[in-house]
Amino acid sequence: MPRTDEVLADPRLVGAADRLGPGLVKQVVLEALARCRTGELSPGEVADAAVAGLPSAATTLRSVINATGVVVHTNLGRAPLSSAAVDAMTIAAGATDVELSLATGRRDRRGRGTLAALAAAVPAAGGVHVVNNGAAALGLVTLALAAGREVVVARGEMVEIGDGFRIPELLESIGARLVEVGTTNRVRLADYEAALSERTAFVLKVHPSNFVVEGFTAAVGVRELAGLPVPVVVDIGSGLLRPHPRLPQEPDADSALRAGATIVTASGDKLLGGPQAGLLLGDAELVERLRRHPFARALRVDKLTLAALEATLTGPTPPVAAALARMPDDLLARAQRIVEELATVPGLAVEAVVTAGAVGGGGAPGVELPSAAVSLPAGLAEPLRTGDRPVVGRVHDGRLLLDLLAVDPADDPVLVEAVRRCT
Ligand SMILES: *Cc1c(COP(=O)(O)O)cnc(C)c1O
Repeated sequence: MPRTDEVLADPRLVGAADRLGPGLVKQVVLEALARCRTGELSPGEVADAAVAGLPSAATTLRSVINATGVVVHTNLGRAPLSSAAVDAMTIAAGATDVELSLATGRRDRRGRGTLAALAAAVPAAGGVHVVNNGAAALGLVTLALAAGREVVVARGEMVEIGDGFRIPELLESIGARLVEVGTTNRVRLADYEAALSERTAFVLKVHPSNFVVEGFTAAVGVRELAGLPVPVVVDIGSGLLRPHPRLPQEPDADSALRAGATIVTASGDKLLGGPQAGLLLGDAELVERLRRHPFARALRVDKLTLAALEATLTGPTPPVAAALARMPDDLLARAQRIVEELATVPGLAVEAVVTAGAVGGGGAPGVELPSAAVSLPAGLAEPLRTGDRPVVGRVHDGRLLLDLLAVDPADDPVLVEAVRRCT
């Protein structure tokens, strides 16, 4: 058995300790030594095995190729950021003028560039503010307006977001009382009118972003609700700022505000394609009140988020928007090219197939996005997931489908290489 400090003296591991930190490198060395103790490695192989086991960065998170066909995949971190957003975060990571005017040398409004970009992107918003996520945005409005008061909401919009989180419980945990109106499938303006009282803080409209109710249904639009004598808060969920041609049913911030919403809340990391954030858009005076609320500090976003959000708003097309713009013929042609490249692997059953992708939990429920996939034996799912560059597909009807809808074309060769390595 080599000694731990002998192995750690290997120049490759000394370099790695500078890059990744000594604790992490020592951990990897101890794991290699444990394999040597069981006879799995010879003493001469320990240093090489440790070097091979080093992560590329000091994080346990891995860079994954999303071949699920779900564009905004919650378990894969929702929206992947554009490289412009990543560059912006790298700049913001150091000392940065997030709250300082370099011109005057005085303190300045935090994140002014990001807020200006957001205001420019949603002209119908009198005021804009950014918090930690969509739930925080809705929570802040509720805290400021409805603690100890009532929020009127349609029964069919009592949404569970995921992982057990429910919008109604979020509001109740802040001390608001919910007044449910209508039935699961139908609600009328008269139902809302009948529920209003001097205790009403606002009417809430929530986008059912992860399910659809079909058949005998009726809902009340923002324009009609805006005629009621109370504020109307609209939680659009997905963060579309303007209508999207491929997602005609998906609500967007600009339309909701034009229709008369007092405040719109939304997530930054769903269809907007940015970092995790919560957007508050609307009535200038109310937004200012929210920004000044004592609890707003607890929901404050960091400089990295501000940087990534600004670049998402002003920079090149983010990956989510790029995925939504992909056409089925192009996707099928890519799948066919990958199949041709893999045809040289002996005995591999591989073909290009037509599929239906989805936006995902982030919005546009029930909308199928025509796509294409590389169909492979289901047994490859696990080795692809656990390889050097993990690829996550979906297993359907006994086959592993690597759907290309959410895959950057630049990653197609990486996908080919990953499959080759597993066969
Ligand atoms: C996703 C979603 C939320 C929660 O947003 P987070 O950014 O995940 O906190 C709230 N409301 C709706 C309608 C949503 O779709």
